[in-house]
Amino acid sequence: MRNRPIPGSSGRVRAMRLLGDPVLHAPCEAVTDFGPDLASLVEDLFATMYAARGVGLAACQIGVAQRVFVYDCPDDEDVRHLGHLVNPRLTEADGIVLRGPEGCLSLPGVEAGTERFDRAVVEGFTLDGAPVRVEGTGFFARCLQHECDHLAGTVYTDRLTGWRKARALRAGRRVPGALTG
Ligand SMILES: [Zn+2]
Repeated sequence: MRNRPIPGSSGRVRAMRLLGDPVLHAPCEAVTDFGPDLASLVEDLFATMYAARGVGLAACQIGVAQRVFVYDCPDDEDVRHLGHLVNPRLTEADGIVLRGPEGCLSLPGVEAGTERFDRAVVEGFTLDGAPVRVEGTGFFARCLQHECDHLAGTVYTDRLTGWRKARALRAGRRVPGALTG
């Protein structure tokens, strides 16, 4: 039995913004209006994330420059984490640094080994304005750091150097429409 609707079921699948789109490369604005538009933004984010088979999606990836992201992501123990965060702040990132495969819905079909902390804590709000603290390890910690980066205008390829960066950007160029310039 479930007493709440499935996330995204009332949302609309929006066009994915791709690497090179200016909205992905500038910091997002803090949310100040916790009204119905915010609830429908969260629904659209879930609908778009599920349609693209992603594990996380930031609002700027659908062209909305606001500090919101959603996630439905397993950790390394296969525990599922599902939720959304408004005005999140990465308050802790520690543990060992691991280089693991990372991809992004804004650079489809590409993966690159990216260094991330093994543990992360993000504090923010729900769409009702209630404070929330989310802690993650392993792959979920990676997801939290990746989505917080998006809200700061950073894409994971910005964290790559040398041949890993060159290869990821080269692979991205082969995806039709993936790079605008
Ligand atoms: Zn991404």
